[in-house]
Amino acid sequence: MATGIDYAQFTSAVGLNWYLVDPNLRFLMDLYLPKERRQWAEGYLVRWGELCGGPIAQRAEVIDKNPPRLERYDPWGREICQIVHHPHAIATKKDVWEEGPHRLRAQGEDVPPVLGGAFNYLLSQADTGMVCATGMTGGVADLVERYASPQVKAQFLSHLLSPSFSEAWDGAMFMTEIEGGSDLARTATVARHVEGDLWLLNGSKWFCSNVDAKAIVTLARPEGAPEGLKGLALFLVPAVRRDGSRNGIVIKRVKEKLGTRSVPTAEVDFVEAEAYLLSSPGGGPTEARGLNRMMSMVNASRLGVATMSLGIMRRSFLEAAIYAHHRRAFGRYLFQLPMVRETLMEMAVETEAAAAMIFETYHHVGRRGDEESRRLYRILVPLSKFRAARRGVELAVKGLEIMGGNGYIENFPMARQLRDAQCHTIWEGTENIICLDVVRAMVKEKAHDALLTRLTAALDSATPTILARAKEMAASALGQARQAASFILEADEETRQFHARRLASVLADVTQGCLLLEEAARELSQEGSARKAAVAYLFCQGHLAPRILTGMEIGKEVLALYAPVVQFSPVEPGDLALT
Ligand SMILES: Cc1cc2nc3c(=O)[nH]c(=O)nc-3n(C[C@H](O)[C@H](O)[C@H](O)COP(=O)(O)OP(=O)(O)OC[C@H]3O[C@@H](n4cnc5c(N)ncnc54)[C@H](O)[C@@H]3O)c2cc1C
Repeated sequence: MATGIDYAQFTSAVGLNWYLVDPNLRFLMDLYLPKERRQWAEGYLVRWGELCGGPIAQRAEVIDKNPPRLERYDPWGREICQIVHHPHAIATKKDVWEEGPHRLRAQGEDVPPVLGGAFNYLLSQADTGMVCATGMTGGVADLVERYASPQVKAQFLSHLLSPSFSEAWDGAMFMTEIEGGSDLARTATVARHVEGDLWLLNGSKWFCSNVDAKAIVTLARPEGAPEGLKGLALFLVPAVRRDGSRNGIVIKRVKEKLGTRSVPTAEVDFVEAEAYLLSSPGGGPTEARGLNRMMSMVNASRLGVATMSLGIMRRSFLEAAIYAHHRRAFGRYLFQLPMVRETLMEMAVETEAAAAMIFETYHHVGRRGDEESRRLYRILVPLSKFRAARRGVELAVKGLEIMGGNGYIENFPMARQLRDAQCHTIWEGTENIICLDVVRAMVKEKAHDALLTRLTAALDSATPTILARAKEMAASALGQARQAASFILEADEETRQFHARRLASVLADVTQGCLLLEEAARELSQEGSARKAAVAYLFCQGHLAPRILTGMEIGKEVLALYAPVVQFSPVEPGDLALT
């Protein structure tokens, strides 16, 4: 077997080019980027990998210790509600705005969603809070583009899409109120009509991330509109009123958070806040459907959160691999000890399995004319968020523990990663709510049919003999997933809710296994290496094999897969026996 990456040559993950040290990301770009864009994208990815692994990662540690703070009043006691950021946060925002995909879009380039996903994945390894702070602008611009009046469009889009950071307006999304974030039907903020598309909002929002954004989308109930979700309308709230004065957005408190501290999350009152209704042409508030419109942005944000979690998984793996190649115990390097070796392999396998599902999801973004793609996107978004958010926490824990006591200490890198990871199971929908969304996608849109068809095709592509055992496990699991889906569709509502998390877990496992097998077949045919075959085999053995009682039947020969899996060394198919 060839040697692959020697983690001993790195003294730290920070300072590396995170694109160049990630063979799996390059593999996924080869797989998913349109051929004519692959070479074009390479230079941008190399530059972005250097920025994220270098200055952005270095600044992230400082920002975490110096989070944004609220200056509510000026020296004369006048309310100003200003958020003060550390200069490093401004520098990173500027980098993201001017070097990230936003700049390419502003230059008129057609940026494939898969490439946008890769940029976010790299940034997430440094600072997932910053992905939140900078990532909502595109979603707000999309809503403005689709639902704002021509005047509002003209005013906002030039800033939301501006190539220059100094001209830029960024976006945010305030939905959660004090009574609860999952049950939005209870939204109590009220909208009063003024004239045309102009309204005034009064009410309180309880979790408002990127609170000092210039363009906020929010939900409110127009006076006289019905109770529940049906009565909600979507509004755009500018930071500045039409007359140039500060809008009625009162920031009461910036929350003290466990993690994601680089983005300010605050409690806000709307006090006679000017807002523009976002509705279809000629539509008014009674035609509401505000939540439906908001959901297009929420789905994009959920995929963003899955990507943040994936970034944390990869960072945890890289930190742990480097540490294990330097630290010694009992006369050996940590990575030479069987249990540490197996943990690093699991971390690599889980990261690639999550990446397989997430980049497949990006592949289906925005293919509006393609019904199969639309349904795949519909179900893959919640499955990706469900799986990656939980695994992000688990891998951060594993990475931290490989560092022993040092892992728990704030001047080593893993404590912050764990703090940040825990946010992702919650924001943009808790795990339970995401599982209910998987069921909703099945019941309302039969999205699982598109998924099961896609996974069958992935399995069909796994023809090389070396994939046979893993394929057998995946095929059997796919059959079980099909049965589970039928059971859920026929069950009553309470039973559906009861099993929703189990169902999401089965579907996520099968999706990851089948996609890894497809990737393995491609690597074998295009590069002649069976490395992905090893990854697919380990994943299927860990998640799709018929129930194993003790696990003792797993032979320790499996540790021989360390070099291909962790060090990314290619393998001759003849060197592997995956049975
Ligand atoms: C750091 C951070 C930043 C945030 N930023 C924003 C933001 O910018 N904009 C915004 O709008 N919101 C934001 N949120 C809010 C976030 O989206 C909500 O916290 C989340 O949706 C959950 O709502 P909740 O906190 O009210 O919990 P609840 O809705 O009260 O849920 C409590 C528990 O009950 C469970 N539960 C609720 N309903 C069900 C059900 N039907 N079945 C099973 N279990 C259920 C939940 O899973 C959860 O475990 C942020 C949150 C955090 C932590």
